[in-house]
Amino acid sequence: MSRISKLRTLMQKVNVDAFLVTSPENRRYMSGFTGTSAMCLILPDKAYLLTDFRYIEQAKAQAPEFEIIKTGVKPFENVKELVASAKRMGFEEDHMTFAEYHKLKETLQNVELSPQVKCLTDLRAIKEPEELEKIRKAVEIADSGFDHILKYVKVGQTEEEIAIELEFHMRKAGASGPSFDFIAASGWRSAMPHGVASSKTIEKGDSFTLDFGAIYQGYCSDITRTIVFGEPDEKQRQIYEIVLKAQQAAIEAVKPGVTGKDVDAVARDVITEAGYGDYFGHGLGHSVGLAIHENPRCSPNDDTVIESGMVITVEPGIYLPGWGGVRIEDIVVVTKNGCEVLTQAPKEFIIIE
Ligand code: ZN
Ligand code: ZN
Repeated sequence: MSRISKLRTLMQKVNVDAFLVTSPENRRYMSGFTGTSAMCLILPDKAYLLTDFRYIEQAKAQAPEFEIIKTGVKPFENVKELVASAKRMGFEEDHMTFAEYHKLKETLQNVELSPQVKCLTDLRAIKEPEELEKIRKAVEIADSGFDHILKYVKVGQTEEEIAIELEFHMRKAGASGPSFDFIAASGWRSAMPHGVASSKTIEKGDSFTLDFGAIYQGYCSDITRTIVFGEPDEKQRQIYEIVLKAQQAAIEAVKPGVTGKDVDAVARDVITEAGYGDYFGHGLGHSVGLAIHENPRCSPNDDTVIESGMVITVEPGIYLPGWGGVRIEDIVVVTKNGCEVLTQAPKEFIIIE
């Protein structure tokens, strides 16, 4: 079934007879259009892509299932004409601003607006084979990036230098860009789970957490590895072992029928039993696709039941203020009985001399 048909089925379930898709990822998912300005409007028997004169040719080429409508200075006026016979229109409450919502409401006085972003989130959560191929390739590029960086890094380089080298390598390997601002945090900075690359120089004895990913044909990868420069002390080894044990236990727990919360708890229990429960302050993981962070999440408050075809990260960590941190992150795809780990980068304790 096409994505449009799938959305129409969900529209019937939630009782809307029109759906306005406005976020870049969702309109790309529905139509294939990659431009920066457009809306998709799905009706029971029609599918429109509304965009301005800059994108008409691109829209025709990328979105063959859609009738292309050229918008004027007030695009919601075009929507109004097209939904003249609709009663209730779904929209993405997560994406629309308060101001846009009011403008839309004012323009479409005869149509009830119904927040329904979950329809699209649910559709995107289960990846189609062609999406999986692209994610696999994005992961492969990231793996090759890590491989390259292991040969490149040495004491004395700055975190920024390493992040730039990594991005350059992945671009040459086919990435259209980085999937987010890389986290490259060394020494005491590695205690910051989201410490983006800084001008700090790598020193002997530093732990170094590198969290990065590539975009391939719109799809993201996401991987974290923590390595050590010079001879590690006992505590660095010990914390690494705990995080790795938690990560492996969680990967083994991923299968259809369990919830994100269940999987999170498996990793959290390992870390808590080791005495570091207070230092694992974020959720275990998230889904990945056209966006770097998608739903469902694997966190203590996500009750979504995991299904075959979902792509999620498993990324426990321990962060000790003033000392440093360790995080290990892989991407897995949920299969019929468990999951397949897509990330191939090594996970043993790596020491850079
Ligand atoms: Zn990550
Ligand atoms: Zn992640």
